[in-house]
Amino acid sequence: MCPLSLNYSLKKVRRRLIDGVIRFLAQPAEVTAGSLLIIAPHPDDEVFACGGLIALKKDMGAKVAVVFFTDGEASHKGCCNTASEKIGSARRRLAAESGEILGLKSEDIFWQGLPDGNIPERNGPDFNKAVESLRKLIDEIKPYEIYVPHYRDCWPDHEAASTIVRETIKPVNYQCELYYYPVWMWHNLRLRLLPEILKTKIIRIDIGAVLERKKTAIDHYLSVLNPDCGKPYCGNLPEGFTNHFQYAYEIFFRAEKQC
Ligand SMILES: [Zn+2]
Ligand SMILES: [Zn+2]
Repeated sequence: MCPLSLNYSLKKVRRRLIDGVIRFLAQPAEVTAGSLLIIAPHPDDEVFACGGLIALKKDMGAKVAVVFFTDGEASHKGCCNTASEKIGSARRRLAAESGEILGLKSEDIFWQGLPDGNIPERNGPDFNKAVESLRKLIDEIKPYEIYVPHYRDCWPDHEAASTIVRETIKPVNYQCELYYYPVWMWHNLRLRLLPEILKTKIIRIDIGAVLERKKTAIDHYLSVLNPDCGKPYCGNLPEGFTNHFQYAYEIFFRAEKQC
């Protein structure tokens, strides 16, 4: 076996092991009718990680809001010459259409316009501005549950988004529950970080009743292609990436420190 294919096989084994351990330890949890806020760094994260939860909550009549930090305008950087504004507006449209499949209305969706690939990190120049802007929105929405990318989601924008949310909700003066969701963790997590991840309570929510709608919403994001290069607007995702989001349940981590 050549070193390259050995490396590839080892990565596959690592991903399967991490996926298996996390799913094995997850405990079943019930969906509540409490209002929900999802923070998505890019359009598609909300559907991959929380599409089932969104649809279930909407079906129950719960208030659901999705805040997109960026338009995802950098997904064709280094690919083709399509202007980033054009990519951003296509991805905004796809977010609205995929959201509709899950029951979201246009008034449930909010855009923060942060730079894709450069969501401010703590101590970065625009961090406080991002926190302030989100705080205003959260004060308005007053969600009972907030879902945000895991702070170890192994993608810089996702981890930065997680930090912004945790900073934002520190001083909120009402009760809310914070959960982390995995997206890139399934693909990129290193084994040495697994013990730390497992310290948090892992829950699984049965989404069997809405799984087909979630799959349709995912397909919608992936099947609309940029005519300039023939690739999906969200960019080419790695092989096997979407497999983690096809299950009849979704995995979340309950934050140890609540709001
Ligand atoms: Zn993302
Ligand atoms: Zn392209």
